[in-house]
Amino acid sequence: MIQIAAYDYNLTRSNRKTITLRVTQDGTLDVRAPLRTSARDIDNFVASKQNWIAKCRKTIADAKQAYAPPPIGWNSPLLWRGKEHPIQSDGESCRMWFDGEIFHFPSCNLENLKYNIPRLLKNCAAVHLRERVAYFADIMHAKPVGMTVGDACKRWGSCSSDKRITFSWRLCLAADDLIDSVVVHELAHLFEMNHSPRFYAIVRATMPDYDARSAKLKDFARQITDIYWEL
Ligand SMILES: [Zn+2]
Repeated sequence: MIQIAAYDYNLTRSNRKTITLRVTQDGTLDVRAPLRTSARDIDNFVASKQNWIAKCRKTIADAKQAYAPPPIGWNSPLLWRGKEHPIQSDGESCRMWFDGEIFHFPSCNLENLKYNIPRLLKNCAAVHLRERVAYFADIMHAKPVGMTVGDACKRWGSCSSDKRITFSWRLCLAADDLIDSVVVHELAHLFEMNHSPRFYAIVRATMPDYDARSAKLKDFARQITDIYWEL
């Protein structure tokens, strides 16, 4: 008799026909199986997929390794529209600004810098997003009543029933094509306040590669978790 190794996984049984596997971001294996499949059959199935599982775990680990941002400080770069820009201390000045290449802050301690970064990025984000909203609103014939930029950590953007759009300044950490995907998403909510097929038809008519961008944005959110969510 061949001993079957007991594998470590979370099992969910439901009224389904096949077994499916999913490796989550923390490397855990989620197994979904039909109600009547025996534990041994599930173990056998998991055993037969060991190479695939190992490959998934490696891909996730590599992606986390690839972007290991330094802690924010005077010598660290700041992410803006998908690129890193240096931070500079301007001893004489008490204002802060972005010149397109360098973020300038008044000379201050690290705590104040961490407080100032979101304030400056929020202002920069408002300028950029206002321009992108105007651009896509024109294409989509959408008429938002107003646009604001907030501090949200849980969502990139939202649209209220009174047609006001709110973005998180953190959206502008992402590359331009990802920022635009959220702009189009929120503008489409002015026509459909849901995520129905009709809603996605509007989104994809404006942006045919929306799904690919959306997937990239999800990856991006996982990559920046370490520092930028705490600001
Ligand atoms: Zn939505």
